Amino acid sequence: MHSLTKTALSFKGIGRRCVALNRFSETRIICRGLTCAAEHGEHENELYDVIISGGGMVGTAMACSLGLDPNLEGKKILLLEAGNKKVMDKVPDAYSTRVSSISPGSATLLSGVGAWDHIMNMRCKPYQKMQVWDACSDALITFDKENLQDEMAYIVENDIIVAALTKQLENLSDQVRVQYKSKVVKYTWPKSHQVADAIPWVQVILANGQTLQTKLLIGADGPNSMVRREAGIPTVKWNYDQSAVVAVLHLSEPTENNVAWQRFLPTGPIAMLPLSDTESSLVWSTSHRHAEELLQLDEESFVDSINTAFWSNENHSELVETAGSLFRTALSVLMPSAGSARQLPPSVAGIGPKSRVMFPLGMGHASEYIRHRVALIGDAAHRVHPLAGHGANLGFGDVACLTQLLSQAAFNGKDLGAMQHLLGYETERQRHNLPMMAAIDLMKRLYSTNAAPMVVLRTFGLQATNTLPAMKAQIMAFASK
Ligand SMILES: Cc1cc2nc3c(=O)[nH]c(=O)nc-3n(C[C@H](O)[C@H](O)[C@H](O)COP(=O)(O)OP(=O)(O)OC[C@H]3O[C@@H](n4cnc5c(N)ncnc54)[C@H](O)[C@@H]3O)c2cc1C
Repeated sequence: MHSLTKTALSFKGIGRRCVALNRFSETRIICRGLTCAAEHGEHENELYDVIISGGGMVGTAMACSLGLDPNLEGKKILLLEAGNKKVMDKVPDAYSTRVSSISPGSATLLSGVGAWDHIMNMRCKPYQKMQVWDACSDALITFDKENLQDEMAYIVENDIIVAALTKQLENLSDQVRVQYKSKVVKYTWPKSHQVADAIPWVQVILANGQTLQTKLLIGADGPNSMVRREAGIPTVKWNYDQSAVVAVLHLSEPTENNVAWQRFLPTGPIAMLPLSDTESSLVWSTSHRHAEELLQLDEESFVDSINTAFWSNENHSELVETAGSLFRTALSVLMPSAGSARQLPPSVAGIGPKSRVMFPLGMGHASEYIRHRVALIGDAAHRVHPLAGHGANLGFGDVACLTQLLSQAAFNGKDLGAMQHLLGYETERQRHNLPMMAAIDLMKRLYSTNAAPMVVLRTFGLQATNTLPAMKAQIMAFASK
């Protein structure tokens, strides 16, 4: 029997603070009371086919997706999450500040794993149109599905997405084991076959001292991924000079509220996303200092700031307005029926209780999504600015792609952790994610200035794109995946 297992078993029943020396990992592990390693004796050193580290939106979706795949039936799959289990017996009356715009592609994935029905039964707001406009000029672009019949995307609270996936995981308990309050503190990687006593699997060591092994480790542990760091995967990353202030907004009067609004201010984009006929969600990206000031304001001044940010023309200049209006006239001569009329966003009257929070923003991209027996998904592989509302959607795309490749590998009787099919995952996802990330970063930079030449250029670009339905349809098709 392994030395740690022996030590752990010797603690069984003691149920009090204990210190175990894990000779295997040379790590001193402190375990408290009943969460001591002994409690997990039965699973000690157990070998899994797949361990997913991190049960956020993306990791939990991955667990459901693998658990449901018929080719993976009989495989041992484990989801590890540092936090508590997120269940929702009753949807809270108040909306959460953390919401995501879920693309039709992600809705299809969530539907495929059986979580979408739970989401629809809980709470979710579809929208049919999006208006994006510049605070430094009259330029705008609108996106909508033909005749506003189809949903463009859905605003869903993050907690509801996780709760729906968790509910679905409960139905898959024969296929997927889930351990909450299980923080991973160390990974050891398979050594070369030449080394005597080499263990060919990834070893996963938890804070409670438990050691597990897996043929494939999927890192879904978020933007500060420990899997990525410990695997030594190089990452390109930088912090933006912005934080996002999020809040639940009460509208002045009930409206159909089926439009997502985003205005680019020189300090960053402000977005209002529909939650119901009377409420919307705010995502206001601005300088760190301004974000802190916004958090300190009394409710009335905060609401005034939001309305001013959406309505004021204080950043307009005569030069840009003249150039923009000449360009618009020329476009209307060339394409008389193209373009779309500006709509005004609803005004805000108040905010939800205790609903203002801020998050520093950054971008990050792992130059490799895979290593031998390791794959990264979600924010662990890529982190983007929220201006396009795409971070989680990229992660759900990873889930769909990796499931398909692992399913195929299992069908062909291949080793799930082998580079061969993992490479297919990396290639396919980087091909999709990188152009999206580059476009998001470019938008952030392009709109972070009020220098007249740049404003004129982007005004022309936005106005021209708005008159090209085929190009807009292509942008929408790309964003809807
Ligand atoms: C203001 C804002 C607005 C956004 N809006 C949108 C939007 O509209 N649409 C959209 O698609 N995206 C949006 N995003 C991005 C989206 O929130 C993220 O892309 C998404 O949450 C990433 O999910 P994830 O599961 O990959 O990572 P995370 O949500 O970070 O989850 C990681 C999980 O891993 C667990 N974990 C970490 N370390 C360990 C460990 N050592 N052991 C065990 N578990 C561990 C954590 O507890 C956590 O549960 C937005 C982001 C922000 C900041």
